[in-house]
Amino acid sequence: MIFKCKNCGGNVIYSPDKEKMFCPYCDGEDCQEVSDARQGIEVCSNCGGEIHINDYTSASQCPYCKNYLIFDERVEGEYAPHLILPFKVSKEAVKKSIREKFKSSIFAPSDFFSEAKLDGMQGMYVPFWMYDYTAHGLYDGECTKVRSWTSGDRRYTETSVYHVVREFEVAFDKMPVDASDALPDSTMDLMEPYDYKALEAFKADYMSGFFAEKYNQSADTMEYRAKEKAKKNTMDMIYQSIVGYTHRRPAKEFVTAERTDLNYALLPVWIYSYRYKDQTYQFHVNGQTGKIVGKVPIVPAKVMGYGATVFGLIFSIGLMLRFVLSII
Ligand SMILES: [Zn+2]
Ligand SMILES: [Zn+2]
Repeated sequence: MIFKCKNCGGNVIYSPDKEKMFCPYCDGEDCQEVSDARQGIEVCSNCGGEIHINDYTSASQCPYCKNYLIFDERVEGEYAPHLILPFKVSKEAVKKSIREKFKSSIFAPSDFFSEAKLDGMQGMYVPFWMYDYTAHGLYDGECTKVRSWTSGDRRYTETSVYHVVREFEVAFDKMPVDASDALPDSTMDLMEPYDYKALEAFKADYMSGFFAEKYNQSADTMEYRAKEKAKKNTMDMIYQSIVGYTHRRPAKEFVTAERTDLNYALLPVWIYSYRYKDQTYQFHVNGQTGKIVGKVPIVPAKVMGYGATVFGLIFSIGLMLRFVLSII
């Protein structure tokens, strides 16, 4: 599939600045038309030139005519994405922020910022699985509060024991897991957070002008990452609700998570590869927020990007069982 201008026949691409399709040749807008002539993997449907792509490439650029191609059979059927997060940051904006961020960096050779090098940057849609869960967590146990004070020459310690029960039901919405090995999981984790509220129903239009991969890891294979996170977050919420105690001694504690929905989504990333003295430096930029992740030391910010709603604090009591006043 290729998007062409009705006016001049040029390759119409999606512009993050204009937030719509536009023709870079005649500046025409909303002039796209899908041409499917001679469609096939490894042959450009525009010029017939041979293209070398890997097994998972779903969108690429023809090295001869520079048109952006989308490979139908890799975005259809079982590979049809449900959702796409369109690029929000343009290549020009990314160039500017890379220059800003690294301008004082001593490691940067002068041509690191050159127009020619930066122009080689590619926008890429990375495949993700997005899981919805309903998690159910329970804590049932003893908690103690210990208080000490001195009066005269005596030291008092008061230990209060409570029976504490917490039962939470938490709905997790669109927990993302990288569905390809195109980029390391750690890189994608650093790129977080994305604002998933901007996800849209999939349209191939958004892919025109970019590269893309289809998933190469099944939703079932990758599920453990999201499920563990949902369970851990639920338990953390429960613990955070048990405050003010000195000790916690659970008698019963469990958490389960049940998948309620699954979406296949494409997320935008700008990739800038820079070769210097036999080493490749890779810079990844969140295509929605412009956040830069480079091979410079970066401390990952721990941000919960997905939505988590506590439906109901079904049962929450703090019942005092014993009251002990001891004199030491
Ligand atoms: Zn045109
Ligand atoms: Zn071509």
